[in-house]
Amino acid sequence: MPARLDTSWSPFVGVIYGVREIGSPEYRYVGLTTKTVSRRRAEHWKAVTHRRRTPFTDWLATAEDQESVSFVPLELVMSDDLDDLGVAEQRWVQRLRQDGHRLLNLTEGGLGPRGYVWSEEQRRAAGERARGRKHPRPLRGEDNPMWGRKHSDEQKARWSESRRGSNAGAANPNHGRFGPEHPAFGRVVSPETRALLSEQKMGEKNPNFGKSASADTRAKMSAARKGKPMPSSRRSAHTRHHTNKGVVSDACQYCIDDNSEE
Ligand SMILES: [Zn+2]
Repeated sequence: MPARLDTSWSPFVGVIYGVREIGSPEYRYVGLTTKTVSRRRAEHWKAVTHRRRTPFTDWLATAEDQESVSFVPLELVMSDDLDDLGVAEQRWVQRLRQDGHRLLNLTEGGLGPRGYVWSEEQRRAAGERARGRKHPRPLRGEDNPMWGRKHSDEQKARWSESRRGSNAGAANPNHGRFGPEHPAFGRVVSPETRALLSEQKMGEKNPNFGKSASADTRAKMSAARKGKPMPSSRRSAHTRHHTNKGVVSDACQYCIDDNSEE
């Protein structure tokens, strides 16, 4: 019978665990949990099933089966302070890396922000791993664990709350990246895709369909435009006052261009 740790007598904040292939001395991942290692282990495998993409889940996915990977408790952290758990994880990540273990952790551990930006190298490596991989069949329809079920409003509210601001401002990985620095720079959307996107927000499908802005909002929009010549460009003036109204003006360069094309 496995020995059970009696934690009732002292403050216990969580466990640091390491992950390695059975028979290999090399750890490939270090994690922390405030629950049990076996529960955390199940969550990691679930992430693989749901094809969440991290170097660690990619590595787990290459394992023959779940039994060939072991989740080893490294340290029981006795404390009443959650931060101590994070500090212990950092210590383990650092120690194992120093000892040459090729950890797949994306961060240096700890309880700080878990967000990270993939380096070009990591991106390429993930691409290499993905190429030629036989994906399990997509979790569609009845195969999907959420089939016929719905997340509760409470759960959705919790998720929404936990995500709030996580992608805003400086927290956004693309914050302050402009021009060639931005991942979408130079991306061209095909006419088919553009038509599809357009179709998806037309008429009743538009989230603003049939709505009008409140007096408050209108006042704000008006204040923001105050002092700026409107419309903001000759091009849009042409569209609004000529194209949309069927008017042709000799004084408008765009009208002249349009006419000379025909
Ligand atoms: Zn015009």
